[in-house]
Amino acid sequence: MPVPRYAVFGNPIAHSRSPAIHQMFAAQEGAAIEYERILAEPGRFAESAAAFFAAGGLGANVTVPFKTDACAWADSLSARARAAGAANTLIKQPNGQIHADNTDGLGLVADIRRHFQVALAGKRILLIGAGGAARGVILPLLECRPASLTIANRTAAKARELAETFGASAAEFAELPAAGFDIAINATSGSLSGQVPAIAAKVFTQCELAYDMAYGREPTAFMRFAQNAGAQRSADGLGMLVEQAAESYRLWRGFSPNTAPVLAALRAGEI
Ligand code: NDP
Repeated sequence: MPVPRYAVFGNPIAHSRSPAIHQMFAAQEGAAIEYERILAEPGRFAESAAAFFAAGGLGANVTVPFKTDACAWADSLSARARAAGAANTLIKQPNGQIHADNTDGLGLVADIRRHFQVALAGKRILLIGAGGAARGVILPLLECRPASLTIANRTAAKARELAETFGASAAEFAELPAAGFDIAINATSGSLSGQVPAIAAKVFTQCELAYDMAYGREPTAFMRFAQNAGAQRSADGLGMLVEQAAESYRLWRGFSPNTAPVLAALRAGEI
């Protein structure tokens, strides 16, 4: 039997921790898998993915900047991938067709619930940002039945468009109410360059959790800002990364990995 092959497509991709994460999942399952990084050239995702699956690949993760391309290329889409307009998981089906899914939102929700033990039902949630990451998590957040979901973005028109599409609310940064949210989620790419969205500190005073989808070695600028503003706790997106990977693994192999030791190994710099 050939070793089952999986991969992650992106550009850049050398930094990706997905191979180490998935190899830990495979060790838990007692399975041997191959999981490689594939650097696709801009505009050539379809060619690259087609070659991988034609050569026997069984499943793939997709990261920046190809999530929209993956959605367009796949033969079929899950409801959440269709809603997001983006896919981070491709699954080869027994009939050879490629099914696309998006596990980012489930990853976020699972991390908030499992690792931070924070319930989302009945909460006032603020989602900051209106790019691909924000779009991918709106439906799973709404499925948790929050009291409200407010989307705010630097370019306000994009937040309004998303809010209309999904039946959420939109607000401009300057309009956000003081102490108005229980959970704030930063889905902007500002953290990657140490920038914090231009939102008043008073907005965060009642937050039980300020969650930044970005992650790195240190707490992000958004995490520090929100905690200084009065948020009880803050979190980075490393747990979301592990949880979205676990959901991909389950979709490929029907095995649900235990994410806690994998997250601990990442935090300790062991993988
Ligand atoms: P996009 O480029 O699609 O969107 C960027 C968003 O950030 C836009 O809403 C943009 O606003 C906003 N933005 C950028 N800079 C600033 C700033 N200085 N102040 C305010 N808003 C700003 O990026 P993605 O949606 O793909 O990714 C967003 C983040 O989510 C990244 O940090 C990424 O690493 C992270 N992510 C984490 C995952 C995980 O598993 N943990 C999974 C997926 C993403 P505007 O519209 O005005 O330009």
